[in-house]
Amino acid sequence: MAAAASTPAPPRRVIVCGGGVIGACTAYFLSTHGTTPTVPTVLEKCAPACAASGKAGGFLAADWRGYLPASWCGSTPSLSALMRVSFALHRRLASTLDGAAAYGFRPIHALSVSLPSGDDDPMVQNWVDPTASGAEVLGAPDATAQVHPGLFTKAVLAASGAGVVIGEVERVVVREDGRVAGVAVKGRAGVMEADAVVLALGPWSARLDMIRELFVVYGQKAHSVVLRPPEPDTITPHALFLRYQPEPGGRVFKPEVYPRPNGEVYMCGMSKDEEVPDDPAAIVGEAESIAMLRKIAGKLSGKLRTEEGAEVVAEQACYLPCTTDGLPVIGEMPGVKGCYVATGHDCWGILNAPATGAAIAELILDGRAETVDLAPFSPERFLKKK
Ligand SMILES: Cc1cc2nc3c(=O)[nH]c(=O)nc-3n(C[C@H](O)[C@H](O)[C@H](O)COP(=O)(O)OP(=O)(O)OC[C@H]3O[C@@H](n4cnc5c(N)ncnc54)[C@H](O)[C@@H]3O)c2cc1C
Repeated sequence: MAAAASTPAPPRRVIVCGGGVIGACTAYFLSTHGTTPTVPTVLEKCAPACAASGKAGGFLAADWRGYLPASWCGSTPSLSALMRVSFALHRRLASTLDGAAAYGFRPIHALSVSLPSGDDDPMVQNWVDPTASGAEVLGAPDATAQVHPGLFTKAVLAASGAGVVIGEVERVVVREDGRVAGVAVKGRAGVMEADAVVLALGPWSARLDMIRELFVVYGQKAHSVVLRPPEPDTITPHALFLRYQPEPGGRVFKPEVYPRPNGEVYMCGMSKDEEVPDDPAAIVGEAESIAMLRKIAGKLSGKLRTEEGAEVVAEQACYLPCTTDGLPVIGEMPGVKGCYVATGHDCWGILNAPATGAAIAELILDGRAETVDLAPFSPERFLKKK
């Protein structure tokens, strides 16, 4: 009897703030937990997947360290471990949720391609011919894959059964004993009560005093275009990491290109550090950046030129959530029992969302994470730096 009394009951009322991919995966793993499945409420300011989680590339890699410079994402052993676990979880989710049909999950090749400068003819006439184009292979389908990020986010959120409340969390309400009491929502009286609160607000995380006082999360704006070529069947499943230097000695552009199984070709790049606007729905791309992406698309392949029949599906921008040490922040907020944070996933949030969500769900419901070692990602690391 005494042992049972000393084990606290797992929280029953959980609020997940933020309906991006991190919030959605947290909701999914809470509600599918093996012993104490707990369906949370998701509190989202705008709409699920309205920001980066709906406008990202959706590229997934089991381990990227061997291919790219160490400064790139996945450059620490802890991040590599997170990526490997999350890649495996993506595969598992795709088979549970019929990911191929529901959100375009598919294994894919990844190539690095240098585009020639000058105004030559489009380089890739028949989409990708690795031997003809001199492309370098970065990844094969056993270790690289893709999803449509917006459809993935919405599919896991729907599968979680979580109710979505549209509202803006203003602050976390904490009891005198240091335990979370719930959240205050802008424009609403009273407190939305909870036994546990997860803050998954992407680049908006630092708008909350509690987070801003502990660590920095800043936004990096990136642009993307989605094109529909006239003969989508001729576009093979090759993700392309481009390098393009229009003038010798000038700026080098490194856009990424992801053909999708629905016949669309997504392309992103043109990023810069910039203050994140309050309203996710108000984010628009800059004309110059969009024009450069369109120019590079046309240079890559005639099939991506509007003059040759390509349709423009979207021209957009969104913000990567970045931290000062390049690692995501995943764990319980120091000094506030029952309040958890999951943010700062930079350019790998779609990949790392399942492992993040699974680990946070375990932390909440079991008291410790089994899926991945969260120690390197704990928000406590910033206490030590103060
Ligand atoms: C151009 C681009 C391409 C990318 N490509 C890839 C890729 O190929 N692979 C990959 O793994 N990752 C990729 N990423 C990174 C990935 O998109 C992000 O890391 C991920 O989407 C972050 O998810 P999130 O849930 O933390 O944040 P977000 O998607 O930004 O979601 C945060 C949510 O919180 C809501 N919110 C904000 N404030 C409040 C509030 N006060 N109250 C309630 N709700 C609030 C917002 O409305 C939003 O819905 C890319 C990113 C960009 C920008």
